[in-house]
Parts: sequence; C-alpha cells; structure tokens
Amino acid sequence: MVVGEVAERAHVVVVGAGPGGYAAALRCADLLPGKRVVLVERDTVGGVCLNVGCIPSKVLIHAAERAHSATTDDTGVALRATVDARRMRDHRADVVAGLTGGVRTLLDAAGVEVWTGEARFSRPDRLAVVHGPDVRHLEFDHIVLATGSRPTALAHLPVGDDRVIDSTGALALEEVPDRLVVVGGGYIGVELGTAWAKLGSSVTIVEAADRLLPAMDKRLGSEVRRRLKQLGVVVHTKRLVTGLTDDGVRLDDDAVIAADKVLVAVGRTPNSDGLGLEQAGVTPAGSGHLDVGPDRRVTGRIFAIGDLTPGPALAHKATAEAEVVAEVIAGRPAVFDPAAIPEVVFSDPEVASVGLDPARAVADGVDHRVFRFPYAAGSRSRTIGSPNGFVQLVADRDDTVIGAQLAGHGVTELVAECTLAIEMAATVTDLAATIHPHPTMAEAIGEAALGLAGHPLHVRR
Ligand code: NAD
Repeated sequence: MVVGEVAERAHVVVVGAGPGGYAAALRCADLLPGKRVVLVERDTVGGVCLNVGCIPSKVLIHAAERAHSATTDDTGVALRATVDARRMRDHRADVVAGLTGGVRTLLDAAGVEVWTGEARFSRPDRLAVVHGPDVRHLEFDHIVLATGSRPTALAHLPVGDDRVIDSTGALALEEVPDRLVVVGGGYIGVELGTAWAKLGSSVTIVEAADRLLPAMDKRLGSEVRRRLKQLGVVVHTKRLVTGLTDDGVRLDDDAVIAADKVLVAVGRTPNSDGLGLEQAGVTPAGSGHLDVGPDRRVTGRIFAIGDLTPGPALAHKATAEAEVVAEVIAGRPAVFDPAAIPEVVFSDPEVASVGLDPARAVADGVDHRVFRFPYAAGSRSRTIGSPNGFVQLVADRDDTVIGAQLAGHGVTELVAECTLAIEMAATVTDLAATIHPHPTMAEAIGEAALGLAGHPLHVRR
C-alpha cells in the first residue's frame, strides 16, 4: 500500500465477468439490496464462454452442420452450400454481441457497478484495479474470485507462430484452412476439428491418450471416432506432437503431418497467477486451482468459483457455484453439493454424460446395472435420419438412477432429464413410468429405463 492512497469501499467485489462472475454479482445484488456490488473485468463482460468459447463455437458448429448436411442430405431435398468464412465470423460476432449486451443490461438494471481493469490484491481486504495508466483501489467485505482459465500452452507449439492457434484463434479464422492438425482429442479438439472438417478442411487429430474424449465413457469416444472417419478426419491416438516442421508438425514416432494451421487444445489452466494472491495469504495448488470449502470459501472473506476451483471446467458449474457464494455472503446456509454435473460435447454425434459411467462405478465399487437403448430402435431418430447413437442408463442395486451416457442427435438436451433424475434420486421405475411424448428422441430415456426394469419395449428381450 502506498501511504495516502485512497480506496473506495464495496460490500462485495467479484473479479471476472464470465458465467460464474456475472451470475455471482447479479445474485449478490438481489440478495443484498442497498449494498455496493462491484464487478471487475479486464476484458469484455461474458468471459471466455460468451466471447471466445461456448457461444461462438456453438455458432460455428451449427453453421458447419448446415453446410455439411445441405450437401449430404438424403431426404430428397437437394441444396447447394456456399461457405463464406468471413461472413460466418461476423455472424458469430453478432451473436456474441447480442448476448454480452444482454448481460450488460441485466447488470446495469441490478445496480452492479462494472469496472474495467486488471485486479490484483494489495492486502487481504484490498485490490488495486489497473486500467491503462489509471489505478483505483477498492476495499471489500467479501471478494469472489471468478477469473476462469486459459488454454494450456505447449512450449514446443507456441501460439503466436503464424500457424499455431488456440481455441480463440480457431474461432477467429477468416478462411477455411486447407490442412488443420488438432493437438488434443478432448472436448475442444473434437468439437472444432469436426466443425472445420465439415467446412472443408482436411483435419488430423492427434491425441495422447488411447482414445478420443478419454475422460468419458469409451463408447462415446467410439461413436465420435466412427463418424469422424466418415467425415475423412484422420485420428492418431497414443501419439504426441513433438514440434513444428517447415510445413507441418512432427509426431513422436517421427511421422510428419502437413498443416496450414495447428490447433492446440490440450486442456485449460486456471487464471490464479497475476492476482497477487500472496498478498492475501493464499497459495494455489500445483495445478493452479484454489482449494475451497463446500461453501466455496478460500479463506475468511475470499471465495472462488468456476474454473479456478477443482472439478470440471464448465460454465454451468461456475453459474451454480455463483448461486452458492451469493447465498453464503448474504448469511444464508448454502453449500455446493450437486448430485451430478452434466457434461456435453457438441461433436457429431453429440455426446453427453452425467453421474457414474460403468467404468467409474466399477472403480468405485458400486454394485450397478446398465442398459443401453440404441437410437436406431426409436422412431423419431429414423424420421430425421439420425439413427446413430444410444441412451445408456446406470442404476445402483436399489434401482436408483446414478448415471447416464448418451450419444446421438439432441443428447445435449436429453441429458438434462437424466440430471434431474439423478438429482431427485429417481428410481428406474420413476423414469420408466414417466410418459415421454411420441415420437421424440426423449423416448429413448424411457426405453432405457424400461430395459433396466427388465421389460424393454422396442428391443428384443
Ligand atoms: P480436454 O481436457 O477436454 O482435452 C484435452 C485432451 O488433450 C485430452 O484428451 C488429453 O489427453 C490431450 N492431450 C494433452 N496433452 C496432449 C499432447 N501433448 N498431445 C496430444 N494430446 C494431448 O481439454 P480441452 O479440449 O482443451 O477443453 C478444455 C476444457 O474446456 C474442458 O475441460 C471442458 O471442460 C471445457 N469445454 C467444454 C465444452 C463443452 O462443455 N461442450 C466444450 C469445449 C471445452
């Protein structure tokens, strides 16, 4: 602290205006009428998810699917697709601007003050907020750290080299790259690799593990890999990219793959550095995450949510944690203790997972049963020409639903019903007796539950 520096005071300061931070600020403003709530953001309101992550990637994926399905449709309707990558990028920017503008309106209406600048602790109860040459000081009763994460960098593939891009760069491309190598076959690699393949790139995915989407049930990665093969995408598993060559990349078996662009998507690193946490007496774990209690408290007046904390780096987890911290700050008893957090990948086919998968259940020693209902046995999937995929339900010995893994058209929506079932501790009978509308994809959930109950309807017993 500089002697004589003047600090303003707020009841709550939230650092980072992503889906965790802006939700925390809005809810604090709700619960603490008349108290000053300041949201500090160095960039644009909306964070990675709205500006350079979930939202623009889903616009790209939707557009790529339109372009691809127009030319491969077998319903008897022939269309011709022209791809203008620059206009597509402008469209993504419009969608993002609409959503971030909406968030800004909500914050203004709630009376949340938004400060632009980079926040850094100068004391456990004080921040310096730096914006260009200006520094403002802010003292607080409570602070919520929601600074998110950034793409993990690989030293031998430096983003910034003409050819090497991260997910932000892959969403900003103005041209369809002829040859794209994707390093990492996780969520981002699979989603963006598929999209650019559908737009005309020759795509190769290099994954270190023995399968795509290695963190999920292996059947999900298999479905995706089968489809990628149809799309002409080459997948190398158990391989590492060791460096750049003159016109591409070299793998650890010395193979060289030609590439105009190399997308590095090997995970995300929490943004806990640069916050001056040492001034607050807080030391991040080796991974960069902050240890938090069930109420998301790091220490005393400091809370953390979202990608900064252990667990999946997902926007909806951050938003759910935001509710909890706001309640705790308002003096209400609250803990973050979800029964399950759904994961969705907008691959082709889409895949989703929630709760325990069979491998996890075995590893955890949970006595369980599994039934998988194939989409091909359902009617709606046939009517829309998407018969690939399945709904797999996992139940424990008491018939309580404990997990679901899904692949196929629309499963990123269907997984919500499975999540509710797990959260409500629904039994197989509850799901089987729930009337699902016909003909819809959601019937597959009821069918899988009937299967677990021992009397499947549309598959042989
Ligand atoms: P990820 O953890 O999903 O996948 C990274 C992959 O890279 C892993 O499969 C890993 O085995 C592989 N890998 C690591 N080092 C490698 C190397 N040197 N060479 C080759 N492969 C290597 O991470 P991501 O795809 O970067 O996504 C980051 C996070 O963003 C995810 O954890 C996810 O939570 C989030 N995300 C979510 C969605 C969604 O919800 N639809 C979409 C995209 C990203």
